[in-house]
Amino acid sequence: MMVMKAIKIKDRDGEVFFKCPRCGMVFRKSKDYIKHVNKAHGHLFRST
Ligand SMILES: [Zn+2]
Repeated sequence: MMVMKAIKIKDRDGEVFFKCPRCGMVFRKSKDYIKHVNKAHGHLFRST
């Protein structure tokens, strides 16, 4: 499965967040990010 590379951002507590490069949504877990990409932008990866 192809997944867009998340933009990793760190907040001032040193916590890492994943930002969707497509719509700017931010997620705490990479799992949630991947879910979002597949749901919201998954059509970008469909070959047909
Ligand atoms: Zn997005």
